[in-house]
Amino acid sequence: MSLIVQKYGGTSVGNPERIRRVAERVLATQQAGHQVVVVVSAMSGVTDSLIRLAREVSPEPSEREMDVLLATGEQTTIALLAMALNARGSRAVSLTGAQAGIVTDGTHTKARIANITPTEMRRLLDDGQIVIVAGFQGQTMAGQITTLGRGGSDLTAIAIAAALGAETCQIFTDVEGVYTCDPRIVPSARKLDELSYEEMLEMASSGSKVMQSRSVEFAKKFGVVFEVRSSFNDAPGTRVVEENMSMENVVIRGLSVEKNQAKITIADVPDRPGTAAAVFGALEKSGTVIDVIVQNVSHTNATDISFTLHKDDLDKARAALEPVVKEIGAARLEAKSGIAKLSVVGIGMRSHSGVAAKLFACLGSAGVNIQMISTSEIKIAVIIEEADITRAANVAHEAFGLANGALLAN
Ligand code: ADP
Ligand code: ASP
Ligand code: MG
Repeated sequence: MSLIVQKYGGTSVGNPERIRRVAERVLATQQAGHQVVVVVSAMSGVTDSLIRLAREVSPEPSEREMDVLLATGEQTTIALLAMALNARGSRAVSLTGAQAGIVTDGTHTKARIANITPTEMRRLLDDGQIVIVAGFQGQTMAGQITTLGRGGSDLTAIAIAAALGAETCQIFTDVEGVYTCDPRIVPSARKLDELSYEEMLEMASSGSKVMQSRSVEFAKKFGVVFEVRSSFNDAPGTRVVEENMSMENVVIRGLSVEKNQAKITIADVPDRPGTAAAVFGALEKSGTVIDVIVQNVSHTNATDISFTLHKDDLDKARAALEPVVKEIGAARLEAKSGIAKLSVVGIGMRSHSGVAAKLFACLGSAGVNIQMISTSEIKIAVIIEEADITRAANVAHEAFGLANGALLAN
């Protein structure tokens, strides 16, 4: 008998009616002859409102207590889904992350899965039961509750699929699959039938939050084939698979948009060894996550260093850098929010040139100013004003012909 892991995100379990509909879909999967493990998220909005509650009682809640709090969101949904299934006469059991045997490291709020002991899940499945697991959470060896970072239920599902050797992992969400760009930003975006792990990973880590990027990394590492599809209809979704030969013929697979970014520039940094180390060392100590970094060639023995970060980290970064700016003898620090990043992604870029020129030309004609550029083997990203991002994404989507079938190499 084959085993399927299904994951339902927050919107898909957002109210009692939707939970009942998920129960029907799960039951139909079992009745089609499969063993089923279901991973669920907290009902939509619940994790955000728990975070707000925490901030109302404490300006800086401890990460341990945040995990104890946030894990309750998923715990509500597993019990409700099990009740809905049992009310239909099926046998379903809910398990917390710890009960499912998910062991993590101790990095509260961003824990990594260390291993999964699936003994209890297997016992229940072999007994003919439907197993419902709380996404996004685990437990340390010492018994502390942990969570896996925002969007972490995707990781729970992929990791369970790997641990149980599932035939497939289905990620049910509120769109029909992975699109050429977030359809909320580019209305003409097209659903992709298939893309490679690498492309999905690059898209996810540059802002396409349809999948949590660490879950894609995990799937790639352990060869877990997964499909992203809609929980509201039966349309076939997007399969994320190992790269194949024909994939390189498509130059650009999709675009990603990342909003809520900020930029810091340290002006007139003396051009000598150790200054970049001092700047980024201080940022690392403060726990600031840096994205794109640009340092110019110096003509006057001084240079500017600019980098981007999430806007929520701006104050923390500024506080960490002010003493460093003085120490290294730089002129000043300029900080600015209202920045966004647009990335174009495709493994075809490895073998086709001209992508950068085409991207810059279409943004230029649309009057979008590029502030920074960063590239990887399969991605070109530009930093622009956040006010321009929707227009930029739409013109780039059009320029690369993504709405009418992906741009094929000549
Ligand atoms: P869930 O709660 O099911 O985990 P998410 O909100 O995490 O759902 O992910 C689904 C959302 O991801 C969609 O509603 C869509 O707005 C957004 N998204 C961003 N980029 C893409 C993309 N390239 N393709 C599809 N959806 C995308
Ligand atoms: N509930 C968590 C979040 O909102 C995990 C998830 O939905 O995947 O981030
Ligand atoms: Mg999600």
